[in-house]
Amino acid sequence: MPAPDTESRKLLRRLQAVMAEAAAGQERLDRITGLVSESMGTDVCSIYLHRDPETLELCATTGLNPEAVHVTRMRLGEGLVGRVARKRRPVNTADAPATKGFRYMPETGEEVFTSFLGVPVQRLGERLGVLVVQSKEPREYSDDEVYALEVVAMVLAEMAELGAFVGEGEALAAPHAAQVLLRGVIAQEGAAEGVVHLHDPRVVISRPVAEDAEAETARLREAVDRLRLKVDDMLSSAEGDSEQAEVFEAFRMFAHSRSWLRRMEAGIEAGLSAEAAVEKEQTAARARMEQAGDAYLRDRLADLDDLSNRLLRMLTGQGRGGVVPEGAVLVARNVGPGELLEYGQAKLRAIVLEDGAVGSHAAIVARAWAIPLIVQARGVVQEALSGDPILVDGEQGIVHLRPDERVRDAFREKLAMQADAQTRYAAIRDTKCRTRDGHRIELMMNAGLMADLPSLPSSGAEGVGLFRTELQFLVRNQMPRRSDLAALYKRVMDAAGGLPVTFRTLDIGSDKVLPYMKRDHEPNPALGWRAIRVGLDKRGVMRMQLQALLRAAEGRPLRVMFPFIAQMEEFLEARAHLTREMHRETSLRHVLPETVEVGAMVETPSMAFAPRRFYQEAEFISIGGNDLKQFFFAADRENERVRRRYDTLNVSFLTLIEQIVARCEETGTPVSFCGEDAGRPVEALCFAAMGLRCLSMRPASIGPVKHILLRSDLSEVRAVIAKAREAGEQSVRDAVMEYLRAR
Ligand code: PEP
Ligand code: MG
Repeated sequence: MPAPDTESRKLLRRLQAVMAEAAAGQERLDRITGLVSESMGTDVCSIYLHRDPETLELCATTGLNPEAVHVTRMRLGEGLVGRVARKRRPVNTADAPATKGFRYMPETGEEVFTSFLGVPVQRLGERLGVLVVQSKEPREYSDDEVYALEVVAMVLAEMAELGAFVGEGEALAAPHAAQVLLRGVIAQEGAAEGVVHLHDPRVVISRPVAEDAEAETARLREAVDRLRLKVDDMLSSAEGDSEQAEVFEAFRMFAHSRSWLRRMEAGIEAGLSAEAAVEKEQTAARARMEQAGDAYLRDRLADLDDLSNRLLRMLTGQGRGGVVPEGAVLVARNVGPGELLEYGQAKLRAIVLEDGAVGSHAAIVARAWAIPLIVQARGVVQEALSGDPILVDGEQGIVHLRPDERVRDAFREKLAMQADAQTRYAAIRDTKCRTRDGHRIELMMNAGLMADLPSLPSSGAEGVGLFRTELQFLVRNQMPRRSDLAALYKRVMDAAGGLPVTFRTLDIGSDKVLPYMKRDHEPNPALGWRAIRVGLDKRGVMRMQLQALLRAAEGRPLRVMFPFIAQMEEFLEARAHLTREMHRETSLRHVLPETVEVGAMVETPSMAFAPRRFYQEAEFISIGGNDLKQFFFAADRENERVRRRYDTLNVSFLTLIEQIVARCEETGTPVSFCGEDAGRPVEALCFAAMGLRCLSMRPASIGPVKHILLRSDLSEVRAVIAKAREAGEQSVRDAVMEYLRAR
């Protein structure tokens, strides 16, 4: 660790003076190279900035041929400068020409300079450029000199972020100014144009340099003390949740790490402000994180990153959020369902997440709202600034940041086409869905939040085929009370205005974890203690929910279904609980619902082979295709690598569906399909051809599904499927698509 370096402090002070002067970007850069070479006693100082992510350009120099400025360019990884940028690590050599990777640039006249020290100019993992000093005499620069140059690079990065070098020449363009196209994974289709609203905006450091090291050290220590207390709080609130506790333990270890504090204090000694010193450390940790091959180490470095962010916010007082602009597209690394609900559907046009998963809770909420959601859009948090224009193409999984006019016009055309389609769907909204050959198909909607209910009339749905009650539990910080639930279910039924609503009892576990319910770590949660298994073991919660449902009906008909039934006994036992609660309500002289229909979800292949009695006892069946498909093909619905591997129109899966439908027909049990596939027009058509007469889907899918069904002849589709099966096809998709195209 370097000793307090007065030269370094002096240099930073002069740098700050350059910043404060009113000067053009190029002039500032030129002044800085002069200051650095003079202060460090080197023959050369040069600044290379990124022209684009793959190219660096010499933007200012003292000592090299000035004609080379804005002429000399290199690719990332090319030459010593390119190597510094790619590896994000200093290169320090007494004999540059003999060093691996050296590339001679004749236009710069650098052959006379033997020693070379280059350090990356970077900010929190974002490559901005390279700062270089060179000397004629062959010497390796000392650790103190390397450190001092890194500190200057850090200040340069902050200045660049503040737009201090904006000016003529493309390499001096303002940061975050260029058009960028990012690709991600589609979690909810749709297209939207809007402006970026960063959920967790970058901390802006307006004062990277500070004179009074003592005061800055005191500020840092005070913030670290507060951070330690906060982490202790987090740790005690995570009691019982082993995974969360593990993360917070790591937080505590870092928060108490002497070497972390010492490294930050060294930054202050060198002339940085407390926040700049924290960020310098954070930048170094991010570079290590990128290079760490070991997943455990990467996770721990990510924890450190999170902790540094908290410290930065404490030091700068910069919080999250801010006013949500009109037409906001929420951009975040990740966002929880509760946070999304706080924004509210009306405020957001689309969501783009850097991480996130298709099956996450946030995705469920976005889907319920029918707003486009792209997940795993790598780089978006770094690239986007609040207020940037953004186009979200949820059909292709593409995000255009700061699009140019051409891209924007093409996108608007696409939006107009979609609006036309919506008009077509609106025109058939009140038409009952009947196929050309006379089969009546009931189209219902899936819901889970009160906010979904307004879609009931506007979508043309004939009722709610699946109300996922767990969403209400997931978006809270504590177990809801019976009276809250009863009031909510009543409002849902009121809003449905007499149309049927099928309430599914709590389906928690697997990815749907209640923060306030203790549970053990399970190696395979999707196959673990979830849904009805939890309900039957934790009877108090299930009873409370059943009571709330019975009361909410206030004498109206009630439909309840139990999720994830894997054997008949589970259904019978769950139903017995409901019967008991009904007796109890009667004894309390409460009004019972006019009728109570009790159904089961078929979500495991075992139920296709259940005893006939199961189909007789259940008053209706709903096929939960999302789970059924994942267990049938043994392919995790959350896992991007495998979840699309098996086609829903695979003959094996269609045969399974056909068999379940046939068993229901034998016993006269109404059957519907409520997985995501019901909302995909071609899949919906094939399900109808397999005999399903009720499909429940996202409200936005009802128009497109009805549109295709109204124009179809199921006997023809059935014949196409039969032919493809006989021909030994693995999936009937191609055959059905060809038939649809021909028509
Ligand atoms: C399903 O599994 O198909 C289903 C509708 O339930 P969920 O998606 O909530 O698991
Ligand atoms: Mg399910």
